[in-house]
Amino acid sequence: MSRVHIRDIQYMLHLSDAQIAFICELASTSDRQFHIAYVAINGKLVCYATNEYFLGTAALSLNRFHQYSIHAEVKALCKYRARPRREPTTHAAPGGTVDLYVLKISKMGFIGQSAPCVDCTRHLLKMWNAFRIRQVIHSTMNGLEVLKKKSMDARLALLTARATEVGTSRGDDD
Ligand SMILES: [Zn+2]
Repeated sequence: MSRVHIRDIQYMLHLSDAQIAFICELASTSDRQFHIAYVAINGKLVCYATNEYFLGTAALSLNRFHQYSIHAEVKALCKYRARPRREPTTHAAPGGTVDLYVLKISKMGFIGQSAPCVDCTRHLLKMWNAFRIRQVIHSTMNGLEVLKKKSMDARLALLTARATEVGTSRGDDD
């Protein structure tokens, strides 16, 4: 199977040529797995974020390292919440739809599996109604997958069960 380049699905991402070029440039200079997430209102990008890692103490193992990263999808929503807006009491887009795109991009610009992890799924569900999120759209090896609230609920249940099963859960910090 041939890999899918971000340009192949540009029309599904509602991104301009310049935005695609910008993302490809960011991905090509990234030395880690590159994830980018953006909030789109009525299909138009309003803010974006990339994965960010915090190198804490040198003693952090790779496993623990994960805990100190903010994943792009949660960061993008935080940025969206912090943006200047006409109506400060609501995060929802008046008369618009709020979609969250989450993409994994290789250095060469090919897309990969970018389904939200258990922590992000939990966070996104918490913010879902306040932000009036319509759907989360994430990349896969073959294209895009759309997650509505129902699918996100199911995903959280599945991931939580799986984490408990293999004993890798770091516990519920809520
Ligand atoms: Zn995550």
